[in-house]
Amino acid sequence: MQLPSWEIGRALGIPIRVHASWFLVFLLVTWTLSTGYLPESLPGLSPERYWAMGGIAAVLLFLSVLLHELGHSYVALHYRIPIEQITLFIFGGVAHMRKEAPTPRAEFLIAVAGPAVSFALGAACFGFVALAESIQQQRGLHGLIMLGALLGMVNVQLGLFNLIPGFPLDGGRVLRAGLWAWGKDFYRATKQAAAVGLGFGVMLGLLGVAVIFGALSGALPATMVSNGGWVIFIGMFLFAAALASRRQAALRQSLATVPVRDLMVRTVTSIPPNCTLDEAVNQYFRSYGYGGFPVLEDGQLVGLVTVLEVQPVPPALWPWQRVRQVMRPLSPSLVVAPDVPVIEAMERMARERWDRLVVMQDGQVVGLVTHSAIVHFLQLRGSSNH
Ligand SMILES: [Zn+2]
Repeated sequence: MQLPSWEIGRALGIPIRVHASWFLVFLLVTWTLSTGYLPESLPGLSPERYWAMGGIAAVLLFLSVLLHELGHSYVALHYRIPIEQITLFIFGGVAHMRKEAPTPRAEFLIAVAGPAVSFALGAACFGFVALAESIQQQRGLHGLIMLGALLGMVNVQLGLFNLIPGFPLDGGRVLRAGLWAWGKDFYRATKQAAAVGLGFGVMLGLLGVAVIFGALSGALPATMVSNGGWVIFIGMFLFAAALASRRQAALRQSLATVPVRDLMVRTVTSIPPNCTLDEAVNQYFRSYGYGGFPVLEDGQLVGLVTVLEVQPVPPALWPWQRVRQVMRPLSPSLVVAPDVPVIEAMERMARERWDRLVVMQDGQVVGLVTHSAIVHFLQLRGSSNH
């Protein structure tokens, strides 16, 4: 399901995006508060007041989730892990980290930072409630006290829920950090923590079913049916996320053990830099069928030219533009050694948004490693595992 998302601002330099599914939760929360919770606990106000208060409460809840994610991000940035974006969606928030934590200690600290922020916010809210209750004489503060208590409760729940020790929840990350420190194997630790995540996903699902059953049979209030449904929904989400993490860890494990040498294309067809784009397209790209070529001048690598660089140039200009003018000039990130693990090459391509790297050994170009070759390898590896 590909729903759109929108950037609503930045914090710590990180783009904050809101996913379309988040609006559903926002409306649901506002509606539940303004038609149920608020009129029940604060009777005698106009419906407009309830809706306004419900909307404000929903925005504050959204801010709580955002601050939780910023807690993770702040510590991650401290460890020089770039955060691509923070997305708020139906189940809360995710800070997309560009790479994994460097050490178990870093993993642990990044993971606990989110719940720590939530608990601190919860404590602040309850502190505010206690203070307001001690000084309040008139009705005026009632609404604020209600809101404070609600926010405090939600933040504490947010912190507690995220500490469930099933990967990829924060508690699961803490577990992974421990297993990683214990067994010294990052991928195995990820797979084990994700297995616990699968278990908790199933348990939440069963708990949700039990709640619905209890509500329908009269043992629990009838309104608990929707709570049960929500718990099942969250259990399914955790199960799916844990399963995906497990698969990804297995894939990454195989990529971490295979050197670039085993996957590289050993054709060292190169293009001279003074070749026109017209010649490059007709004599190289079309005749060989490759998506890119290293550019060599007097036997020395000077750059790389791929379809991506030629494409933006209008064909009418091809006879007048030379490869040198459009190529990606040589830089250390363009070159990789043959004994480097494939995962490193893949991460670099993803970071630089390139589709291939030049493999060099002792100053000689020995091959190219392409994104599609890695994908093919993974497909074959995946099918042989079944
Ligand atoms: Zn978290």
